[in-house]
Amino acid sequence: MSDSQTLHWQALSRDHHLPPFTDYKALNAKGTRIITRASGVYLWDSDGQRILDAMAGLWCVNVGYGREELVEAAARQMRELPYYNLFFQTAHPPALALAQAIAELAPAGMQHVFFTGSGSEANDTVLRMVRHYWAIKGQPEKKVVIGRWNGYHGSTVAGASLGGMKAMHGQGDFPIPGIEHIDQPYWYGEGGDMEPEEFGIRIADQLEQKIREIGEDKVAAFIAEPIQGAGGVIIPPDSYWPRIKEILARHDILFIADEVICGFGRTGEWFGSDYYGLEPDLMPIAKGLTSGYIPMGGVIVRDEVVRTLNEGGEFYHGFTYSGHPVAAAVALENLRILREERIVERVKAQTAPYLQRRWQELAEHPLVGQARGVGLLGALELVKNKKTRERFAEPGVGMRCREHCFRNGLVMRAVGDTMIISPPLVIGEQEIDELIDKVRLCLDATARDVLG
Ligand SMILES: *Cc1c(COP(=O)(O)O)cnc(C)c1O
Repeated sequence: MSDSQTLHWQALSRDHHLPPFTDYKALNAKGTRIITRASGVYLWDSDGQRILDAMAGLWCVNVGYGREELVEAAARQMRELPYYNLFFQTAHPPALALAQAIAELAPAGMQHVFFTGSGSEANDTVLRMVRHYWAIKGQPEKKVVIGRWNGYHGSTVAGASLGGMKAMHGQGDFPIPGIEHIDQPYWYGEGGDMEPEEFGIRIADQLEQKIREIGEDKVAAFIAEPIQGAGGVIIPPDSYWPRIKEILARHDILFIADEVICGFGRTGEWFGSDYYGLEPDLMPIAKGLTSGYIPMGGVIVRDEVVRTLNEGGEFYHGFTYSGHPVAAAVALENLRILREERIVERVKAQTAPYLQRRWQELAEHPLVGQARGVGLLGALELVKNKKTRERFAEPGVGMRCREHCFRNGLVMRAVGDTMIISPPLVIGEQEIDELIDKVRLCLDATARDVLG
């Protein structure tokens, strides 16, 4: 495409579009990047540049771009039944077949799914569902949900409130009442002089303290991502989840594992809860469920919770597009591909070990304070001083690195000065080699800018 076409789209963006999570003035001064097509693990922009998408879109394109079967599944379903709702005692085959397929993959004892249109709606659903659950059990005062600072659970009112993003809370008085936060298990950033394992225990113990402070009779649930994604691919120390499990076992509260990123193979297991041996009561899902080809989310619910809901009369909650037949057909086909091509198994046995070995090589770079990862998730901490973990005083080093990535045909995301990746699960070893080469090039370019 010609340069003038890029300018055309950029003008439309400036004149008519309000994009999500964007500083409008800054974007309009610079011009937005226009992505026009994609195939496998690659994107193409309107200038014809090929870009290795190390973020799988937004953590979601698990089977990679350009899968004809997903297109066909959508077209077939649109011809057969493009829409019907699941309200008022009706249903349709795609939603029911998908619920069964998800139940087959889910941890034992989690056999039901409530469908939503997105991950945020899934988290709105869990907030409604856990409060409804306790009310049915005769404890309507058990309402408070404990989340974590720097956790991410979406951008609706409930999602933003359950999440712990202070910048989001700052715009419009969030969190809403009845939501509390404890610290995150971010050893590299907040662990100080402590050993990681000691830090993991100390941070987990905040859950115990918080439950005591609020009173167990007022706490409905604890919500957490198995690995924090948007917060910067924060992988808890090994001591963290076992300690949290001990605490949860002592208290009568529900546990919500937000699987929107970790679900559907990201860690090399079907769910992050499988990876860490967690036993959640509710699991919000989205993203990898459809590989992002069409919006869909849901909540997988433990049998015991379902038994209680069955006794509660009508649950006054749902969406026009809950279980949308076209989305369900695409999700079903996406799960078929993941299973039949044994993509999750390959991530665990081959791709993840290979990526993580090569990712660790980057730890030697002068700019990198820590390289960490699990499955096909990775993070690099960019620091001024590797030994002392001293950060850069000037803001925007991560964004600068991100700009170098785009210029060199690579999408990496910057969370502050943490560079993160989450590539499609179908990425091959040669593509991983290309990814590592490109990351190194971009780190070198960033180092020249900031270390001199
Ligand atoms: C992306 C995300 C969400 C929100 O999903 P949307 O589809 O953007 O609403 C919720 N939880 C986690 C862990 C996420 O990464």
